[in-house]
Amino acid sequence: MEQLAINGGIPVRNTYLSYGKQSIDDKDIEIVTKVLKGDYLTTGPNVKAFEEKVAKYVGAKYAVAVCNGTAALHTACFAAGIKEGDEVIVTPMTFAASSNCVLYCGGKPIFVDIDPKTYNIDPDKIEEKITDRTKAIIPVDFTGQSVHMDKIRCIAEKHNLIIIEDAAHALGSEYKGNKIGSLAHMAEFSFHPVKPITTAEGGMIITNDEKLYERLSLFRTHGITRNKALMSHEEGPWYYEQIDLGYNYRITDIQCALGSSQMNKLDSFVKRRREIVQIYNEDFKELSDYITTPYEAEYSNSGWHIYIVKFNLDKFKVGRKEIFEALQAENIGVNVHYIPVYFHPYYQKLGYKKGLCPEAEKLYEQMLTLPLFPKMSNNDVEDVINSVKKVVMYYGK
Ligand SMILES: *Cc1c(COP(=O)(O)O)cnc(C)c1O
Repeated sequence: MEQLAINGGIPVRNTYLSYGKQSIDDKDIEIVTKVLKGDYLTTGPNVKAFEEKVAKYVGAKYAVAVCNGTAALHTACFAAGIKEGDEVIVTPMTFAASSNCVLYCGGKPIFVDIDPKTYNIDPDKIEEKITDRTKAIIPVDFTGQSVHMDKIRCIAEKHNLIIIEDAAHALGSEYKGNKIGSLAHMAEFSFHPVKPITTAEGGMIITNDEKLYERLSLFRTHGITRNKALMSHEEGPWYYEQIDLGYNYRITDIQCALGSSQMNKLDSFVKRRREIVQIYNEDFKELSDYITTPYEAEYSNSGWHIYIVKFNLDKFKVGRKEIFEALQAENIGVNVHYIPVYFHPYYQKLGYKKGLCPEAEKLYEQMLTLPLFPKMSNNDVEDVINSVKKVVMYYGK
């Protein structure tokens, strides 16, 4: 049998393939350069234009662009009125920012386990965790797959909860034919380089509610307003008031120009991601005893931010760590998304105990993220498939 690179064999690739990467072209560079030569570097016309472009794309009324996705979640929690003592339902299978934003506001994240098929928060397990202190739900469209929004909306209506959808993975994804972003009270996007489009750092909150929009805008700029309807009184044309404690979460005009340019390519990015996923799914069919490819629910049309395979470890002579290391040695940039949030020492110190969400914990033991980004060539895709097959042949039972 062919030696694995980790055992001194020749790696499938001689250059490293990362799990995710931005797609920047000359048009993007041209547009950014133009902004640098103009009058506005930070808040200027490109911010509004980018907000309008994304809002229109997802079919919503308002958008507030901020400096990153985490700030967007914090801003949304502020707008939702999360305060000391409030409880917010979250999923453990996500990046820590999805629940850190609750802590920023003094609230308490309440973890609800995932559905073992979709890996998204299990809507049927939400209600048993609702108390009279529950204020909101932060569902995550994990990997780009939509959460079961009808079920979540139904629960939210019944218990008077605000839905803050963490759609960091899901710009361009759909739920029952509708673009993700307009179906919750607020939805958050991230424009980090590995996400569906990028502004380097960047984030946005989408809403259809004018009141929420005002609070989001306020929080982004120190809690300062020039809106006469919100001020206590008026002293002259220079006058503004700080009426709440906000932050400086503004994004630059440079980044928003890049964002608008990236939006022109979003559909082609999503198309390429879907193509790659189809090749993966097809080629991995012969390994179905060893690995489980992603399941997609009938209501979802994913833009595939990441591609996760689950290893059936009973069929392997080694553990996930050895499989991870062997694939890295083949120059395949596998990753693990994610460590269940409450496993982190900070959360353990807050009193969360391992065993809280058994399905998320089980998935964590078995999962690997394979490279997936629009600029991957068919050869790159082949390299990933051949590496996985090589490692499965070697370590499989
Ligand atoms: C990336 C990400 C965020 C935060 O985005 P940043 O722009 O990096 O701050 C939040 N939630 C999830 C699920 C993410 O993947």
